[in-house]
Amino acid sequence: MSNNLMAQAQQSLEHYWGFPSFRTGQYEAIQSILEGKNTMVLFPTGGGKSLCYQVPATVLDGLTIVISPLVALMQDQVQQLNDRGIAATFVNSSISSWEIEQRFANARNGMYDLLYCSPERLETNLWQAEMPKLNIDLIAIDEAHCISEWGHDFRPSYREIRPALEDIAEDVTWVALTATATPEVRDDIQESLGFDDPVIVSKGFERPNLKWWVTETAQKKQKLLQAVQKAVSNGSGLIYGGTRRNCEELSQKIEQQLGLKTKAYHAGVDAAIRKQIQEEWIEGTTPLVVATNAFGMGIDKSDCRYVIHYEMPYSLESYYQEAGRAGRDGEESFPLLLFKQSDAITAERRIKDSYPEKEELEHVYDVLCDHLNLAVGSEMEQKEEVSIKALEKRSGLSNRKVHSSLEVLNRLGVIELIEHITPQIGLQFIVSQDYIHDQINGLENQRKSEFLDTIFRQFGGEAFGKMKYMEFDYLQRKLGASPNAVKKGLQVLQDRDHMLKFESIGELPLVQLVEERLPSLNLSRQELEKHRNTLLQKLEYMMGYIQTETCREVYIRHYFGEEEVSPCGHCDNCLRKEQSIDALSDKDLQQLKATLADEAKTFNQIAQHFGWSKSKAKRLLGYLIREEKVVTQDDKYAWKQ
Ligand code: ADP
Ligand code: MG
Repeated sequence: MSNNLMAQAQQSLEHYWGFPSFRTGQYEAIQSILEGKNTMVLFPTGGGKSLCYQVPATVLDGLTIVISPLVALMQDQVQQLNDRGIAATFVNSSISSWEIEQRFANARNGMYDLLYCSPERLETNLWQAEMPKLNIDLIAIDEAHCISEWGHDFRPSYREIRPALEDIAEDVTWVALTATATPEVRDDIQESLGFDDPVIVSKGFERPNLKWWVTETAQKKQKLLQAVQKAVSNGSGLIYGGTRRNCEELSQKIEQQLGLKTKAYHAGVDAAIRKQIQEEWIEGTTPLVVATNAFGMGIDKSDCRYVIHYEMPYSLESYYQEAGRAGRDGEESFPLLLFKQSDAITAERRIKDSYPEKEELEHVYDVLCDHLNLAVGSEMEQKEEVSIKALEKRSGLSNRKVHSSLEVLNRLGVIELIEHITPQIGLQFIVSQDYIHDQINGLENQRKSEFLDTIFRQFGGEAFGKMKYMEFDYLQRKLGASPNAVKKGLQVLQDRDHMLKFESIGELPLVQLVEERLPSLNLSRQELEKHRNTLLQKLEYMMGYIQTETCREVYIRHYFGEEEVSPCGHCDNCLRKEQSIDALSDKDLQQLKATLADEAKTFNQIAQHFGWSKSKAKRLLGYLIREEKVVTQDDKYAWKQ
């Protein structure tokens, strides 16, 4: 039975994706799912988690529900599946309730293989009413670390997934997927989803082709230029610059001094240009981008040869994810982190400073509710766009404070917050194709006729009968008009000509209060403290990575919960160690042993005795202490028996 299903899975992989074979772990995960076992998939970013539920979805008779946290990613994935000829759709707070009902009706009729859904949808009345009528086989929880406060991206609504699906929970197969496999997170996921004894398929955090490197220096700029100069002949690269200003400044400097085409990428750059920079980087026509951490999510470039962090991230999860964008194709690549002593202090201060006080959080809550015209006791039906600027003005707090307040309120489960949405246009024709054809040919106004023609060609047949979504930037470029002109044009076709309806999903964050507005929010200081300490703890592990003298890859893999791992042999620490060993001949070692076994000696005595320079003596003795061959007693060194 399962063999037969696996054969179908293999066929599906070739047919829809055109891939010849599964990657490590994928086969095992898919087999476990098709055997109906609850499964946990732990692969690093880029490891190919999506296929683990998408392939089964095409093989199973019933529907696969995919819970995914980001509206933008959901749309991208559904689009990609549709492009491959797989029937998939999504429901989330960005589409109208009319449209959602339509999609549920289609799902009931078995029209989709996959239905993507945001977690907070599950609690709605509509979903609860529809659920029993759907023939669900598989529930996939993507980015499952969102369940855990220990994940770097906790979302309270993820905790409600299992309760919301309780009625069908025992009759379906579950799969949870994440790249964050620390033991705490793993346990949290297992507990929250009620997995008894899941099959765990994990693919280590080992990236044998990555040469991890940390350089401590007071002159980061100079080191950066040197590193880029060295790396550039290998191919494309990425620099994480930290702030917008750094990105601008560094990219200019690199262009001037190295003559390398380099672009700065950050939230201040126009969306259309950002998109263009991304595309040029993927193609390789812009070989280097200096970016804030806004760059990268959902970007799939396999041949990035180096990732340099000019500013360190505040958690190893973020670092691994960002640096791990190098070398997806398996070829030798270099993640380099530049660090100066004061960075540690700055980081700690930033976390402390930007962490809002209890009173500030409560103030932002009030201001937000007022801004949304929400009276005490009333509830929000759906998410609404909120301008951070407006909140800044009303609250008198800085942008950073408002922003981090919203994030903390989100984390505490007071609000649901969705950020980083790619602006999209959803469009559906409400007349027949023939009618549109006639209009295009019959319109006197040349400009309008072309506009309609382009719209018609871009959205195509799929936009008859259902709303089809497309990125606004893309459409705007195809139309060759300003953003305003595009919106006005669509408005006319909708309101005056009644040919279509459209909706735009904006760039502003979406916010929804989870419960009715309270007269005042009373947060627990203890809870706040706990969260802040989690952030500081994560920073400490990040510092540990920078300061460790053992293998960097081992450090990372231990952090992510792998137990028995051996040194990579090619990170800076492994190489340094090799050098120390090289410099220490067997003869030296024997002599040193003989000398120290006899009687413990001071540093100077040893250096003199062997004629070593101070730095050589320091390096070698340091090495022998780490290897536990030599111990220090008072200020003397002795051979350890
Ligand atoms: P993750 O969710 O684990 O970060 P994705 O599912 O987004 O990873 O996959 C990363 C990339 O790897 C995608 O471009 C995907 O098409 C590609 N990929 C996944 N599985 C295979 C496979 N078996 N063969 C070739 N490419 C694959
Ligand atoms: Mg993924």
